[in-house]
Amino acid sequence: MKRLSLAALLLCAFAFLFAPPGRADGETAPGRDPKQAVDEAYTAKIKKYTTQASFTSPLVDYLPASKNVPTPEAVLGDVAGAPGILPYSKDVYAYMRLLEKASPRVKVFSIGTTEEGREMIAVAVSSEENLKKLEENRARLAKLADPRTIQMDDAEADKLVAQAVPVYYITGTIHSPETGAPTALMELAYRLAVDESPYIREIREGMVTLITPVVEVDGRDRMVDLYKWHLAHPKEFYPPLIYWGKYVAHDNNRDAMGVTLKLTENVLNTYVDWKAQVLHDLHESVPYLYDNTVGDGPYNAWIDPILADEWQMIGARNVADMTKFGMPGVFAHGDFDTWSPGYLMFMAAMHNGISRLYETFGNGGADTEERTLDPQEYSRTWYRPNPPFPRAIWSQRDNNNYEETGLLTSLHYFNENKRLFLKNFYLKAKRSIAKPNEEGPAAYVLPGDEPRATLQEELLGVLAKQKVEISRATAAFSVTLPAAKGKNEKKDAKEADKNKKPEPTTKEFPAGSYIIRMDQPYSRIADALLDHQYWSPDDPQKTPYDDTGWTFGELFGVQVSRVTDPKVLSVAMERVKEVKPAGGVKGEGTIFAIDNHAEPALAALRYKLRDASIEAAEEPFESGGGKFHRGAFLLKNVSHGDLERVTAALGLHAVALSGAPNVKTHAVRAARIAYVHTWLSTQMEGWWRLAFDDIGIPYEYMSTQTLGKIDDLNAKYDVIVFPPVGFPASLTLMVDGLPTAWGNPLPWQNTPETPNLVGKNDATDDIRPGLGWDGVAKLEKFVRNGGLLLTATDTSQFALTLGMGEGISASRGDKMKIIGSVVGARMVDDASPIAYGYPEKVSVYCDNGPVFSLSSIAGARGRRRLGGEMHERPTGRGTADDPDFVVGRKPEEIPEEPKSEIWESPPVTEEQQRNGFRVIPPADRPRVIFRYADAKDFLISGLAEGAGEIAQHPAVVDAPEGKGHVVLFSINPVYRGETRGTYAMVLNAIVNFDSLNAGRKEAEK
Ligand SMILES: [Zn+2]
Repeated sequence: MKRLSLAALLLCAFAFLFAPPGRADGETAPGRDPKQAVDEAYTAKIKKYTTQASFTSPLVDYLPASKNVPTPEAVLGDVAGAPGILPYSKDVYAYMRLLEKASPRVKVFSIGTTEEGREMIAVAVSSEENLKKLEENRARLAKLADPRTIQMDDAEADKLVAQAVPVYYITGTIHSPETGAPTALMELAYRLAVDESPYIREIREGMVTLITPVVEVDGRDRMVDLYKWHLAHPKEFYPPLIYWGKYVAHDNNRDAMGVTLKLTENVLNTYVDWKAQVLHDLHESVPYLYDNTVGDGPYNAWIDPILADEWQMIGARNVADMTKFGMPGVFAHGDFDTWSPGYLMFMAAMHNGISRLYETFGNGGADTEERTLDPQEYSRTWYRPNPPFPRAIWSQRDNNNYEETGLLTSLHYFNENKRLFLKNFYLKAKRSIAKPNEEGPAAYVLPGDEPRATLQEELLGVLAKQKVEISRATAAFSVTLPAAKGKNEKKDAKEADKNKKPEPTTKEFPAGSYIIRMDQPYSRIADALLDHQYWSPDDPQKTPYDDTGWTFGELFGVQVSRVTDPKVLSVAMERVKEVKPAGGVKGEGTIFAIDNHAEPALAALRYKLRDASIEAAEEPFESGGGKFHRGAFLLKNVSHGDLERVTAALGLHAVALSGAPNVKTHAVRAARIAYVHTWLSTQMEGWWRLAFDDIGIPYEYMSTQTLGKIDDLNAKYDVIVFPPVGFPASLTLMVDGLPTAWGNPLPWQNTPETPNLVGKNDATDDIRPGLGWDGVAKLEKFVRNGGLLLTATDTSQFALTLGMGEGISASRGDKMKIIGSVVGARMVDDASPIAYGYPEKVSVYCDNGPVFSLSSIAGARGRRRLGGEMHERPTGRGTADDPDFVVGRKPEEIPEEPKSEIWESPPVTEEQQRNGFRVIPPADRPRVIFRYADAKDFLISGLAEGAGEIAQHPAVVDAPEGKGHVVLFSINPVYRGETRGTYAMVLNAIVNFDSLNAGRKEAEK
């Protein structure tokens, strides 16, 4: 071995340190063009605000000068990422429009508005020539996006790939407290438009960079308000961002399945209209740059393996490039699994593109602060050999340096390999179209005779928003369904049956059935939404990042058949442009009936026809040749015209009857609703608010603070809806609120400093106080005097902890893991108005309970009941079935042990009835309306580990309390626009609030 001198070693080391980062042959090195002048003042400030030399790169440590194009300083008054500066959305837009005016390389497009009416934009940056030929290019990309248009001709695709300019779509600040992206993207747009270095010029000339600098516009403006308040009160604490958008906070990045928020719809439309290849969403939470698209398993099962490879390619290269720049803390693997398709970026993965997401580091504002990391954040791991520093001063400029460097290296790498990525874009679309003949299925069919037509319409509406093509069969047809699995494996099956192979069956569908063909470019998203999910309890990933199941047909409560028989594709059908169930009135008369299939539209009708008399039938009945279910509406005092107008709009069918049917009824009322939120978190309730607004259920929105100040709640309201809080909502936090013994008030109000804070939501001069014990007393009085309190998950737990809902206890399972899963529920009491319109089996959304257990003994805080354990014989003589004996005594007759089901209260024993003042009278005992399915039928979609702890326990309980009721949900019936099949449980309780005892069978003594 040749020995090297120390000098030679040092020389090697220096050569290594100072050599430009290694590139492949012919690759352009990053760095400025020495011939182009630099904006010296701007560059000096970049340097000043960057807290460490390693927190920048040769791509962003200077700003090229331009004679006519303004830098971000024109709007910000300082450089991008400067301390103390967070621009409002209008300032960001103003700058992008200045760029558009000054440079032919920038074009700004309006892409829609938010719930509060603010504009959303997309900024295209590319060469002048590319921007002039946008339409021509779009036409090329459209052909690659839909290979049917070129007859799946690979040679033709290759020609298009050679000519097309790809589109890389970047979205910023969907999460409002993650504040860095807008300024980073302003500066990025400037660089892409102005910089003449070969590295940047190649990006500009080779592709279109499309930028939505602010995705959550309403939330951004609120966050800037909050930050300004903080700057104006530097010595005081400032409130957390309680509201982001109008409805939800962090969950705005979980809407890419249901597409219920404007921001989702606007970005999806832009992504699809531009035929973009990438959607890259910017976040802040992890030091210093985590490309979490590579993440960890399990990967979503419906993505194309080509995409998994693309994630690895871009991610690995991104890490390599930034590591070579000397930037610490850049990595690609980590604990984010890529299972759920609910994230904004994932709409690209589900529409044949590439989804990407950066977590960068941020301070939740533009203050420069020393930040100390957790050991798990700075530890060196196999995927993070160059971790972030345990402690460092961090600035918004550092964040902008990382975001821009990551994006520029990604754009450059993408451009260098664009022919490969464009070809992949085509191949993924082609493979989506090939689905029926490859992995299947051939189609999903939604039958034309679906009784819950309005919910079917809503499900098809989601698919239409997702750009899925929907067809309708013009004639009846049948398909072959594969043999059911394990059908004859029952223990009690006859020996002969056991050997019989399960046979395929035939299923008939009527004309008008909807067919979602899988031979279309966007079959992937339809398949992912309509299929079932299975997350193995043995999966090495023990902490699912989000929901594990979502099957839309199950959660919407409508029939969806997965059809593998390719014959379905040759059925006579036509494309459907708009799905609208035909509602209206049949016949003439003064009494009308509308059947009940647990559709939310029924409650909407009650509120729309306020002057009509509406009764609910307490039993099924037949009239005029029609059969009606329990809960069917009977309407009087309504004109044919009004009813026609409202039923047509809602998609409901009313039938005129010749006379009042002979059936017991009660009034259905447009209850006056107080809708309660906390100042702890508004996210979970936001989904309920969105649903109520969409359906058309009016309510008065108020905080626990306001509720606690209303003396006579019964005089103003019939129903108090208290949706889940989703915050560790302990009794103390809910009642006492956040600590007020120290610190300053945390106001949530519009002021000159904070003009956007309140928006269309709620306000307070101090978010800290909670409901208060006085408020608790008022709430209890409201129920005792005849009001209905409706709670779910953690607010159910809250009500029970307060002692409401006598006879019900709630616990958290010991080892149970049901993480955002679709599970089975069974109807227990079909006579309860809460169950009106529902079938015996209902699919519900469950996220770990709570586990309800019932008792007929007041104050009993019985632990979770386990089936069977007390029924085994004790150790003793004889076989397992034999009675035991006692030596020297004659056998005694064993008293019959009272038996009950898991969801019921154990029958009161004779011992308990001795001086039984704690025995709850039968009429006061809780009434179970739905229970969870048995353990073997429990899981429908997702993960259910240790489900035995909650299986068969009550899922929806109606507890009488004085003259009123508390209705408690263990499930979350209203969630992310996905659980529309269970909305009617909530709405049934509301419109029947003063008749909830209908059909109640008094418990036996
Ligand atoms: Zn985020």
